[in-house]
Amino acid sequence: MSDFSALGLSEWLSQQCRQMGINKPTPVQQSCVPAILEGRDCMGCAKTGSGKTAAFVLPVLQKLSEDPYGIFCLVLTPTRELAYQIGEQFRVLGRPLGLRDCVVVGGMNMVAQALELSKKPHVVIATPGRLADHIRSSNTFNMRKLRFLVLDEADRLLEQGCTDFTKDLEVILGAVPAKRQTLLFSATLTDTLQELKSIALNKPFYWESQSEVRTVDELDQRYILVAEKVKDAYLVRLIQKFQTEHEDWSIMIFTSTCKNCQILNMMLREFSFPSVALHSMMKQKQRFAALAKFKSSIFKILIATDVAARGLDIPTVQVVINHNTPGLPKNYVHRVGRTARAGRHGVSITLVTQYDIHLVHAIEEQNKAKLKEYSVAESEVLKILTQVNVTRRECEIKLESSDFDEKKEINKRKQMILEGKDPDLEEKRKAELEKIHREKRKFKERIQENLQRQKDILLKKKLLKKKRRQQKHEAKEKP
Ligand code: AMP
Repeated sequence: MSDFSALGLSEWLSQQCRQMGINKPTPVQQSCVPAILEGRDCMGCAKTGSGKTAAFVLPVLQKLSEDPYGIFCLVLTPTRELAYQIGEQFRVLGRPLGLRDCVVVGGMNMVAQALELSKKPHVVIATPGRLADHIRSSNTFNMRKLRFLVLDEADRLLEQGCTDFTKDLEVILGAVPAKRQTLLFSATLTDTLQELKSIALNKPFYWESQSEVRTVDELDQRYILVAEKVKDAYLVRLIQKFQTEHEDWSIMIFTSTCKNCQILNMMLREFSFPSVALHSMMKQKQRFAALAKFKSSIFKILIATDVAARGLDIPTVQVVINHNTPGLPKNYVHRVGRTARAGRHGVSITLVTQYDIHLVHAIEEQNKAKLKEYSVAESEVLKILTQVNVTRRECEIKLESSDFDEKKEINKRKQMILEGKDPDLEEKRKAELEKIHREKRKFKERIQENLQRQKDILLKKKLLKKKRRQQKHEAKEKP
């Protein structure tokens, strides 16, 4: 009997795991899978990259294979990229079942999604905003028979911040049956434990990693104390260092704002670094394209805001650089968790200014891990300082002036997000409205043309009649 079969999973699922290179259950899988199979609600607090997705995908697939119907399971997750990643795991592990899944996220075609939902997929993986939109506007699908509700990155879904999911979650919880199994997972559940308990009412099985430390042992956590003015030069120097010292290198850089993300990307490209940006002010297609380029190692650097901080599983990432010190210790956990996944080693380097030292202390205290200093030769940084700062200024000016339209567009999208609107959806609505106006205009023009043509015909007829009358008259007059 394989380790996975011993948890109560069927042989075909163990075989699927083996095909994916998953041979032995991780602690979160070992503890949560049997509890879920027993029919209990489950709350799993597992460190980043420790296999929590499979901890819920495997038992859901097992139960689905015993009684297959749609819609059987709904997975909610805070970001669109993460939804596609979870969909992929369901698809790979559930292939022998002929699993039908449907990913429902903002920024993608809503009509196509509605059509897919109406075909009763076994599993729906969604971001709350778009799914709530479908529930409000459509009666072509229902989730009344839903067996499993999974909240991935559950604490983020319940957090009230810039993107507040509360209202959408209310709509969704109103559309799923009260009698269901609820599974909640994250690397940082403890902060919102009480709220989460009100969603998972069925005597939830709670599992938390035994270790006090919230980050994995394979992660080497470093910091560099820098002045704000030299931060970018340190960043460039660090990349140069990794580029020359490692043959196969891949870096994720986190920054606080979309604008800074855009500027840093422009700046690194000026230095001929293969970088791409990922932030919420980009169109969804550009976001997917950037991620795909980074995942395929065509581009070695991904500069992102916290939109990429949670859940993304890119095994090649060896280094995470925090261009700003995260204000919340749990955001730090998720950011640095993009490296050192599934037993691999990784390094995180946080650039800390004198104003951020208290943040580092909070990170160390809450995560129960000390950050060590990372040494970089200051002389090397000083050599490039002026060039880096001038390049950054040039990029800022470029974004302010020549890319004024792009910036305006970014601000417009930002405003919409703050108002709780989906900019991609708004754009689509605007495009549809414009199309209707265009068609109306064309229709009017065609009517005008027809009228004109009829007028011309009438005129011609009149003239012809007149001419004939005249000819008749002339014929009569002739002797
Ligand atoms: P997750 O924490 O779910 O994002 O998973 C992180 C990575 O661990 C993914 O690439 C999974 O394919 C991999 N993984 C999941 N379960 C196991 C396992 N039991 N053994 C080794 N790798 C695993």
